[in-house]
Amino acid sequence: MNAPDTLPVAEALQQGLAKERKAEREAHKLEKRLCRLVGQAIGDFNMIEAGDRVMVCLSGGKDSYGMLDILLKLQARAPVSFELIAVNLDQKQPGFPAHVLPEYLHGVGIPFHIEEQDTYSIVKDKVPEGKTMCSLCSRLRRGILYRVAQELGATKIALGHHRDDILQTTFLNMFFGGKLKGMPPKLVSDDGRNVVIRPLAYVPEDDLSAWADHRGFPIIPCTLCGSQENLQRKQMKAMLRDWDKRFPGRIESIFTSLQNVVPSHLMDHGLFPFADVRATGRPEPQGDIAFDEDESCASPTPVSSQVNVIRWTGAARDDTD
Ligand code: SF4
Repeated sequence: MNAPDTLPVAEALQQGLAKERKAEREAHKLEKRLCRLVGQAIGDFNMIEAGDRVMVCLSGGKDSYGMLDILLKLQARAPVSFELIAVNLDQKQPGFPAHVLPEYLHGVGIPFHIEEQDTYSIVKDKVPEGKTMCSLCSRLRRGILYRVAQELGATKIALGHHRDDILQTTFLNMFFGGKLKGMPPKLVSDDGRNVVIRPLAYVPEDDLSAWADHRGFPIIPCTLCGSQENLQRKQMKAMLRDWDKRFPGRIESIFTSLQNVVPSHLMDHGLFPFADVRATGRPEPQGDIAFDEDESCASPTPVSSQVNVIRWTGAARDDTD
């Protein structure tokens, strides 16, 4: 009797199931891609070594949640053994939900430390109303995190900056700082006592947003302090987004260029000994053709990356994404 009515219901159920399966497949591909990119960066820059105690800085934003999540997955299958400890700095911003991160970290079952320091009051006190508070706030935060890393015996400090942060910084430095300088995936801190790593260096921000949605991380909004995002950084972000829309592949190409630097073809005489350039009399297959225009060609991913993918994720690049 009800056959005509049940058919659409059955169809709708099937469609729902198919949609669910598709979403699952997409999430699986995304997870593989994230693991591959993070594993690749760790391997390429030797970010984590056997016996390391990595302090994972967790702000409550999508990027740091994603970083911790992927590092935990890689820890389980990495070729070396290392420890992870999550650290959050509670800066006492009004409305900061102090219970969220401890609850999440308890659930994940990872060792963690919450450092409570009222930098909010200091910044409010020192910075005149209406001026951006970020630079003093970041300076204070940096100093505290370096100290905490020492106290916890951490050998590495992991920060959640991703590929797009690195690109924005590079353009900020070019446009406003007159420097060809990005954001290093690994560095020694300015106090000389800590090694800072950025395991998300190869990861596009959109992938982290999608992963945060999929995992349902309890995100803590970053606007609690009431400060505006740096306007110039906002402009860089908009510029890069616009390029990405209008010229697909451009962002990837610019990012690849950061890994294929040719000092002899820039103009920093501190980096390349131009003063010593002499004719050798020998043909140079890789030499400059000087008079012709360069053929533009994106360089392939360095071979070392592919080796590191296998070492760190236990899988070759078989994930078709
Ligand atoms: S946005 Fe707020 S919390 Fe973040 S660095 Fe700026 S002042 Fe500090």
